[in-house]
Amino acid sequence: MIDIRMNPIKHKILVMSGKGGVGKSTVACMLAQVLASQSCKVGVVDLDICGPSIPKLLSVEEQVVVNTEYGWKTLLSPHNGIKVMSVGAMLKSDRDSVVFRGPRKTVLIKRFFKDTFWGKLDYLICDTPPGTSDEHLTAIKVLKNVKPDGAIIVTTSQGVSIATVRREVNFCRKMGVKILGLVVNMSTFMCPCCDEVTNLFPEDEIEKLAEEQKIPILARIPVDTRVTSCCEVGRNPVIEHPDSQAIKCMEQLVKSLSNVIDR
Ligand code: ADP
Repeated sequence: MIDIRMNPIKHKILVMSGKGGVGKSTVACMLAQVLASQSCKVGVVDLDICGPSIPKLLSVEEQVVVNTEYGWKTLLSPHNGIKVMSVGAMLKSDRDSVVFRGPRKTVLIKRFFKDTFWGKLDYLICDTPPGTSDEHLTAIKVLKNVKPDGAIIVTTSQGVSIATVRREVNFCRKMGVKILGLVVNMSTFMCPCCDEVTNLFPEDEIEKLAEEQKIPILARIPVDTRVTSCCEVGRNPVIEHPDSQAIKCMEQLVKSLSNVIDR
């Protein structure tokens, strides 16, 4: 069943981070939005079972998952028709907490891949929870035989964040997942008035790690208040602020990505 669902999808990309709050889900959504704006057919699966944020970011909060004869019907983001699957759409209210434990989480993640009617896609972006958990293990096991392209690791260049990147790198290597590259997010700030760029954290540590581990830095995305304000209300920054530095850097990410994935 997994082959039937996953083979029509050209690229499956995991988006990971060592810790929370580094902008992983934001980058995953913006990546999907940029790809969709370039006429790609895109899906996003939210593997963060306990803290799903994708429904808000892709504005599908009001939709519910429907079971049809073809499988679970994906939610449809108004952002260029991105298909979405998330546990967030299975909760009665966004205040409900998800108290799924190991086996239930595993079953649900498997169903996201096997029982969802994704159809033909160019990209399936898999937003994972921070760290290395059951969710990652399950997704990697499920995807193993259908050749995922690999993982993008999102980080800031803060010391605490970099330490956790090493763990992600080791985890991916142990699990045989190709590391496509790093995305350094929110390490610089661009003034919305004068476009002056200020470094928030030194970048030499992350550069050292990338060099030492032979992992490319695919893109550096500055803090952009226009991104934050769009994300807060589920609007699409790619459509609303196409000329912003952050979106230009996301386009750079798509370009760099196309050089590291098999066509
Ligand atoms: P994570 O998935 O790593 O926990 P989020 O994607 O939820 O992190 O991002 C955390 C916060 O940072 C959110 O409020 C988001 O809008 C903001 N954010 C992330 N990346 C950027 C960016 N490049 N510019 C501005 N705000 C950002």
